[in-house]
Amino acid sequence: MIPYGRQEVKDRDIEAVVEVLKSDFLTQGPTVPRFEEFIARRVEAEHAVAVNSATSALHIACLALELGPGDVLWTVPNTFVASANSALYCGASVDFVDIDPRTGNMDVEALRSKLIDADRVGPVPKVIVPVHFAGQPTEQELIWELAQHYGFKILEDASHAIGASRQGEAVGNCRWSDIVVFSFHPVKIITTGEGGMALTNDPVLAERMATLRLHGITRDPELFVHAPSPDRSLPPWYYEQQMLGYNYRMTDIHAALGTSQLRRLDEYVTRRNALARRYDELLEELPVQVPLVLPRNRSAFHLYVVHLVDASPDRHQMVFEELRALGIGVNVHYIPVHLQPYYRRFGFRAGQFPVAEAHSTSAMSLPLFASLTDGQQDQVVSSLKQVLED
Ligand SMILES: *Cc1c(COP(=O)(O)O)cnc(C)c1O
Repeated sequence: MIPYGRQEVKDRDIEAVVEVLKSDFLTQGPTVPRFEEFIARRVEAEHAVAVNSATSALHIACLALELGPGDVLWTVPNTFVASANSALYCGASVDFVDIDPRTGNMDVEALRSKLIDADRVGPVPKVIVPVHFAGQPTEQELIWELAQHYGFKILEDASHAIGASRQGEAVGNCRWSDIVVFSFHPVKIITTGEGGMALTNDPVLAERMATLRLHGITRDPELFVHAPSPDRSLPPWYYEQQMLGYNYRMTDIHAALGTSQLRRLDEYVTRRNALARRYDELLEELPVQVPLVLPRNRSAFHLYVVHLVDASPDRHQMVFEELRALGIGVNVHYIPVHLQPYYRRFGFRAGQFPVAEAHSTSAMSLPLFASLTDGQQDQVVSSLKQVLED
C-alpha cells in the first residue's frame, strides 16, 4: 500500500536522537529550547512553546486566550476534530464557518456575514481558529481585519502548513493572529514522533502557555505572587503553582528528531510542490478537479486533495474502495466535524455547512510525501485512471 502520507527518517535523524539518549537530559534539557528557537527564527515569530502534540498546543493556546465557559470558538467543519475540541476542553462552546470551495479554507465572506449576524443577535466568538487546509495559507490578513472590528482573538491551526508562505511571508509569523500552532505528527511536513508547537509575538501569551505546559508552575521569582514569609529570603527550592496546568512537555528526544528534520524543511516543501505540479499535469485528462493554490500563496502541500467531478457520494465511496484495493492509500480529509456524533448532540445537523459537506463526499487525498517516487506517483495516477474509466 502506498500510504497517503508518511515520515522520512534518515540516519542523521537517528544519530541526533541517539546523542540525546546518551546525554544527561531526556526531557526538559537544552534541546527543547533550541528547537523552539530554530522554529521561531525559521518562521519569524518571537516566542515558541513546544509541547507533546498540536492538540495540547491548541488547548493551552485557548486557555492563554482566556477562553472559558460562556465563550464561543468558531472554526471550520473541514478539519481534524482537535481544532474544535480545544474549545470544549476549556468549557467553551463551538460553532462553525463554512469553507471556500476553491481552497477548503474558511470562507472569509461566510465569516463576515456570520459576524454581522452574531453582532446583532449574539454570541460573537471570542476566538476564531482558521485552518490552513492541506498546507495552503488562509486569507489571514482579511480575517485579521475582521478581528480588529469585532474584537475576537485568532488562533491559526497551521498543523498542515509549516514551510508555507503567503505574499512571501512565512506561515507562523503571527503577523495576522495571536497564536499559531504547528503539528509534528508523522504524517505532517516534519515530525518529532508526536509533538506540536505554539508560536506568538505576545510575551504574556508565551509566558502563560509555557506555564500551562508545566502544571501551571513558575520558577521565575519576578512572577511570584506569594512569598512564603515576607521577612525571609525565598528558599532556593521555592516555586509557585499559579494556575491549573498540565504535563504537556515535549522531551529532548522528540526535539532532537524535530531539529534534525527541520534542516530538510525547504527540501521537503519543494519536493511536495514539485510532486503536486506533476500530479496536476498527469491528471489533466481525468474527471477530477486538481487543487487550486491562490496566486499569492505557496502551499506546504501536506495533502494533495482532488475532487471527483459530477460523482455521487456512492461513486465517491466506490472509487475510494477500489483505489484501496489496488494498494493506493487514499484518504478523505475531512468528515465534517459538526456531523460527528459527539457534535450532533449539541444540535448540529446535516445541511448546516453545505460546502464542507459537499467537499467531504467528493474529496480524495492522493498519496503525497517527500519520499514518494515518480514511479509510485505514476502508479497512483494509472490506478486512478483505471478506476475512473470503469
Ligand atoms: C494533525 C492535526 C491536528 C492535531 O495534531 P496532533 O499533533 O496530532 O495533536 C490538529 N489540527 C489539524 C488540522 C491537524 O491536521
